[in-house]
Amino acid sequence: MSNTVVLTARYLVSMDEKGTVLSPGYVEIEGNKIKSIGHQSEVPATKERIDYGNAGIIPGLLNSHNHMAMSLMRGVADDLPLDDWLENHIWPLEGRFLSPEYIYDGTLLSVVEMLKSGTTFTTDMYFFEDEVARACTQAGIRCMIGEGAMAFPTPSVKDPGSVFDVIRKQAKTYRSEELISVHVAAHSTYATTEEQLVRCDELAQELDLPVQIHCAESKKEVEESIAKHGKTQIAYLNDLGLLDRRIGLVHMVWPQSGDWEHLKRDNVSVVSCLQSNLKLASGMPPIAHYVDEGIRVCLGTDGAASNNNLDIWEEFRLAALIAKGQSLDPIKVPAERALRMVTIDAAKAWGIDSLLGSIEKGKAADITVVDLDHPNTTPCYDIYSTLVYAAGVSNVKDVFVAGRRVLKDGIVTTVDEDEVLAKAANWAEKIKPL
Ligand SMILES: [Zn+2]
Repeated sequence: MSNTVVLTARYLVSMDEKGTVLSPGYVEIEGNKIKSIGHQSEVPATKERIDYGNAGIIPGLLNSHNHMAMSLMRGVADDLPLDDWLENHIWPLEGRFLSPEYIYDGTLLSVVEMLKSGTTFTTDMYFFEDEVARACTQAGIRCMIGEGAMAFPTPSVKDPGSVFDVIRKQAKTYRSEELISVHVAAHSTYATTEEQLVRCDELAQELDLPVQIHCAESKKEVEESIAKHGKTQIAYLNDLGLLDRRIGLVHMVWPQSGDWEHLKRDNVSVVSCLQSNLKLASGMPPIAHYVDEGIRVCLGTDGAASNNNLDIWEEFRLAALIAKGQSLDPIKVPAERALRMVTIDAAKAWGIDSLLGSIEKGKAADITVVDLDHPNTTPCYDIYSTLVYAAGVSNVKDVFVAGRRVLKDGIVTTVDEDEVLAKAANWAEKIKPL
């Protein structure tokens, strides 16, 4: 029989469709699944119980856009325009240093940072994704890996045409892995060929995989698409059939008037990376407008070379604030709505909401415990307000992924944090002199 443990706390925030908050509440975990939730007065008899007291039990947070191993380039080139940053700094460094070992070490660094911030799932679009899967499995975080498809040779795939074989093989390898899933990661419309995008579409359809692509990040790339293809990137992707797939359009800072109708589909989601966009001065996506139009918005940190951290708390707080600041309406994107962007709405975006995104009976036991016994979370009149406008990484106490306690009292239990930091420091020594 599987192990059963009951967690109790002042708040159980389900993030289900009804917006259930149980106070005080409990969640019963059996093996890797949630067996029941309820008021604390109804706690079932069980052998093991963890009482968190003045805390919030919330779903594990979902980071919908990431390039994990880029954390080894955190701060290596800042305060630059996107194209200069990418073409003159990041891509040359990647060409020189990226290897399976680099990806493994950089991914572990990011996973440790994310587990300590209550993130239990991330997508990853990068290279040598088998190493990403290996690091995530070891550390016990969920990841939807995406081997980057680009028009030119990448550090992991020398022949751009063969990336589809790599993705196909990964889909087969990780089919029955609990923590790892696979998606089709097309870099962008400007860094892929039309033929590649068609093949991305075909592969996604054949293997029933989600697609992710950077899109409309800068005004310049939108203008270039219109000049080259005679249409916006969204219209281009639509004509190629990709908007019929389950797809996450990453950034979407610059939607054009004809794009909006294409975005109003349940299979299409906007993935905003607000701090990355702000830092690279790409602009601010129209968050309030997307939400008003019924377009699903979820959030990602982007890689740590452009953010420069993987703190998803800062992203959902910013989503609520930017929506209000842009619309001059404080009612836009209230706290609960912002939290949905990193829980249930993110799970819906990737088609995994039957398993993740809320604390409900039968779903995976991916849970984050937020300690409210801190000055920044005192007093707590409304748990959503506290979580979105006041709390942060420093309040994350425990994390469970698939029922496994991967963070205990703020310490990662699955890997040696000191060792992970030491390896990252070694890489920095090699990268630094350039
Ligand atoms: Zn990105």
